[in-house]
Formats: sequence, structure tokens, C-alpha cells
Amino acid sequence: MSNSLVLVINSGSSSLKFALIDTVSGEATLSGLGECFGLPEAVVSWKIDGEKHEHMLEAEGNHHQQAVDRIVALLEELGMKQDIVAIGHRVVHGGEKFTKTVKIDETVLEEIDNLSDLAPLHNPAHVIGMRAAMKAFPSLSQYAVFDTAFHQTMPAKAYTGAISQKLYKEYGIRRYGFHGTSHYYVSREAAKMINKPVEDSNFISVHLGNGASVCAIKNGKSVDTSMGFTPLAGLMMGTRCGDLDPSIIEFLLKKGWSQQEVFDELNKKSGLLGVSGLTSDCRGIIEAMENGHEGATLAFEIFCYRVAKYIGSYMVALDELDAIIFTAGIGENSQPIRSKILENLKIFGYREDEEGNAAARFGNAGVITKPNTPMAMVIPTNEEWVIAKESMELLHA
Ligand code: ADP
Repeated sequence: MSNSLVLVINSGSSSLKFALIDTVSGEATLSGLGECFGLPEAVVSWKIDGEKHEHMLEAEGNHHQQAVDRIVALLEELGMKQDIVAIGHRVVHGGEKFTKTVKIDETVLEEIDNLSDLAPLHNPAHVIGMRAAMKAFPSLSQYAVFDTAFHQTMPAKAYTGAISQKLYKEYGIRRYGFHGTSHYYVSREAAKMINKPVEDSNFISVHLGNGASVCAIKNGKSVDTSMGFTPLAGLMMGTRCGDLDPSIIEFLLKKGWSQQEVFDELNKKSGLLGVSGLTSDCRGIIEAMENGHEGATLAFEIFCYRVAKYIGSYMVALDELDAIIFTAGIGENSQPIRSKILENLKIFGYREDEEGNAAARFGNAGVITKPNTPMAMVIPTNEEWVIAKESMELLHA
């Protein structure tokens, strides 16, 4: 192994995911997760050759730092530490400030922290993770890769809310969009699949994981996306409501709900979970639906209907469309969800190729529509790879 390894870190408020990416092969040599930070059961776990290992952190203290220190020790034990050349951090919110990947220094750390108003659950946690990594790897360059950056090419008509401009100017209230790294990656891979330069390609990319978003990509650039000021907007998700009449919030507040209760309801108890009354996990929804569960069936119907509605509306953002791209946990694996979405799009001429749809699962890319009909395809996303590659490119720039 030569000097091609980048450590990718995704630091959350109570967790820290990491992956060691070989930027030559694209493989994740090692990956793991620190979780339950702030609780006595804080732990770091990782997999090597399919075998899971765990290390309990000390009950007290800075769990982000302890986790990063344990990762460093692990990399030393495995003889990999000296081959790491850079560290890439996933950052949820770059506001309007960050339109591309940047090298992290004290000013950048402050700017990411200053954006905490826009992403209170994420940005402060990223900064804690970055500081821990900078302490543990003082000689390595570290880079911040933003979920919002890809969408900074949206035109004002797509990102401006139909509200007073004062709110934008004073508070920065506008559409930012998220999942940018994923939409960026799959659109590049899709362009390769159809043998076109990405600058001449047009896609509607549909990222369906626990979080879900649609993105209209014109000539390789994001021109509209369904998540908004926060990741709560747009599609129905695992536990998030997506688009909703804003008056419902006022209504619930007047009914005596607290602000926190409303926030929790819409973010953590809605979506597939809320409608099915069963689970936020798509596999559980499909299984229950097959057993005749009414709530799960309704959740499935709403989910697929709303994705198709967004795809239909994003035709307006494009002059041409090469393909719809499905990605992320549900998009990459759920044959019934994709099948139903295509059925909902039949007015546009989409026709499912059942064999193609069955084949494009579990990490396999492929076209899932019949020949000579509008194209939909599956492309497995790889956000860690983008973070590693961008970090490597900046290192050598
Ligand atoms: P996250 O947003 O947390 O990264 P993922 O992209 O991992 O989420 O997607 C998680 C979702 O993918 C869950 O709803 C899960 O049920 C779904 N999923 C994973 N594998 C399958 C599968 N084989 N069939 C249907 N859904 C799947």
C-alpha cells in the first residue's frame, strides 16, 4: 500500500463514522463507527475482514477525542497510519460561504462554527470532530467537504422562498439543499454509463435513504433540489415529514404542543414511521405491506407517489433528460419502490424492465427501464469516495 489512503470522518453530535479509503482502488480498507457519545456506553466499533471489533470508551470525558485517539491507535496497530496522507471531513452545512471543498484551518473552523445557526445538530459536532482529528494527526492536511456545496449553482428562482427578501437577508433563509456529494457522484457515474461528458448530461437524481432528496442536474450542475433550508423539506423520509403546510406548525403550537415537541414530531416521528405506525425502515415497510398491513401499505403509496411527483415537477427545471438515477439504501435496493415510482411516471413513458430492476440491487448498477423508453438507472452512491478523492486532489493542487 502506498501513500494513497485518506481517512474520511463524519462526526455527529453523539457519533463519529470513519472510513479509510484507498484513493487508487476506491476501496474502503477499514470502516467503523463511534456511538453513544455522552453516555456511559460510548463505544467505537470497526470491521476487519467481516469480523466486528469493539472498544468501550471511558465513561467520562471527551468521547469525540477518545474515539479519534482509539482510531489512531488502531491504525498504528494495523500498520496503516503512515500511509494516510490526508483527512477528509463531511460537513452538512456550508451555507453560501462554501461552494467547494476547502483545506481546514482556524478561519475555516470558525466559519463552519458560525454556520451552526443553520445546522445546530451538525456543524458544532463537525467542528469538535475536526479539532480532535487535528490534535491526533497534527502533521496531516485536513479538508472539509460540504453537503450543500454542489447545490450552490441553483438559480435564485430555485433557491429563493416566496417570502419577504428581508428574511433571506437577515437570517439567510433560502433553499440550500443537502446530499450534494451523493448527487454529484451518481451524476458523474451516470454520465460515464451513457457515454456522455457530464457537462452535456441532464439527470434527475433520486437519493432515497433514511434521508431522501431529489436533484435536477442540468449539464452536470445542480439547478434544483428538494431539501431546503434544512433536510426536513421535500420528500417523505424514514422519520421526517418532508413538505407540509407550514400552518400545521402554528396549529399544533396553539393546541399546546411545545416547539420541541413539534420539531421532534416532524423530524423523528413522521415519514414512513409516522404513517405506518410501525417502522422507519423500508424493508420493514415492504414486508408488512406484503402481509397486508394497512399503515405500511399507505406509507409505501405516499412515499412512491411523492417521489414521482417531484420527478415530474423537476422535468420543468431541465430542457432535456438523459435519465432518472436512483441511489442510496432504498434507491439502490428496493425493487418494489422503484417499480411503483416508475408506474407512477407512466404518463412520461417510463416502462419498468423487470429483469433489469431485479438485477440492479445490492451494489450493482444498471438500467431498469425497457429499451427505447425514457431511461431510469440505479447507481450505488459513494460519498466517502468523493470526500477522499476531493481531499486528495486538493492535497496535490
Ligand atoms: P442513510 O440515510 O442513513 O445513509 P441509507 O442510504 O443506508 O440511509 O438507507 C437506509 C434505508 O435503506 C432504510 O430504509 C433501509 O430499509 C433501506 N434498505 C437497505 N437495504 C434495503 C433493501 N434490500 N431493500 C429495501 N430497502 C433497503
